Amino acid sequence: MTLSIVTPLIESLTLGSKNDVNVWLKMEAMQPSGSFKIRGVGYACEHHATKGAKRFISSSGGNAGLAVAYAGRKLSIPVVVVVPNTTSERAKYLLGLEGASVVTHGRSWVEANQYALSICTEHDAFIHPFDDPLLWHGHAAMIDEVVASGMTPDAVLLSVGGGGLLAGVDEGLYRNGLTETPIFVAETEGTASYKSALQKGTLVELDEILGIATTLGAKKVCERALELSNERKVIPFTVSDEEAVSACRAFLNDHRTLVEPACGATLALLYGKKIDLKPYKNILVIVCGGSTVTVESLQSL
Ligand SMILES: *Cc1c(COP(=O)(O)O)cnc(C)c1O
Repeated sequence: MTLSIVTPLIESLTLGSKNDVNVWLKMEAMQPSGSFKIRGVGYACEHHATKGAKRFISSSGGNAGLAVAYAGRKLSIPVVVVVPNTTSERAKYLLGLEGASVVTHGRSWVEANQYALSICTEHDAFIHPFDDPLLWHGHAAMIDEVVASGMTPDAVLLSVGGGGLLAGVDEGLYRNGLTETPIFVAETEGTASYKSALQKGTLVELDEILGIATTLGAKKVCERALELSNERKVIPFTVSDEEAVSACRAFLNDHRTLVEPACGATLALLYGKKIDLKPYKNILVIVCGGSTVTVESLQSL
C-alpha cells in the first residue's frame, strides 16, 4: 500500500511565458494530507508499521503532523501529535478530523517536542518532520513520477524548511541519473537557515524565526541538506513575506489551487522573475502545498 498518490504534472503557461521557459508544476498540493509530506511520512510510517510499531508520535502541528495523522488513520495505528499552545485551532481541528490525539504541551515547539520524545516507548515510532533517510526515500518518488511521465527537468525549484524535501528531490534526481540537475531553493528572509548554512559552509542555528512562513521555520537544517550541496549545484534565494503571499494569490488565480506561503516562496521566484532561466528548457516546480492556510487567512496576511 502506498499512502501518497500520483500527483498531476501540469504545464504552467502563465509562469512559462513570464520566464521564457517551460514550467512544469508537480502538484503535491493535491496529496490527501495537503502537502508532499505524506510521501516521506507515509513511507516511514509503513516501514515502522511493518516493524511492529503500535503508535506513531509527532510533534508537528503543521503539515508533517497532518501527514502522520493521515498515515495512522489509513494504517489503523493510533497517532499522538504533541503541539505547543501557539498552535492554531484550525490545525488542531484538522488533526482531530484525522483521528489523532492532540496533546497541547509547552509554549514552543522545543517544549512540545521534548515532551513528545519523553512519552515515546519502545512500541512507538517517532516521526521526524524532515531529518530521516526514510522520509527522503519516500519524497524521492515524486521525481520518479516526473521522469516516468517523459519530462526530464533541466532544473528544479523548491522550498526549504529543514531540508527534507530537498534531500528527497536530490535522491530522486540521483536515482534517475540526473546527477547534474541544479536545484534552486527558496526560503523567506525570516527563515533562511539554509542560505546561512550554505554561505558559512556549516550548519547555522537561527536565533529566531521571523515572519509568516512558519512551515519553513526550522532554526537549523538537517546535515544532509548541507552535505548534498557539495554533490550538486544548489542555488539559494530568499523572498520577502509579501512576495510569498502575493505569489500564493496569483497562483490561486492562475491554477485554482490554494497553497501556503511556504510554497509561495518558491512560486515567488517565478512570479518575480528572480532567476535567469535562459540556460534551461524545462523547469520543474515542486508545488509543495500546505494545509494551514485558508483564503481568509491569506487575505489577512
Ligand atoms: C514541510 C514543508 C516544507 C519544507 O520542507 P522541509 O522538508 O522541511 O524542507 C515546505 N512547504 C510545505 C508546504 C511543507 O509542508
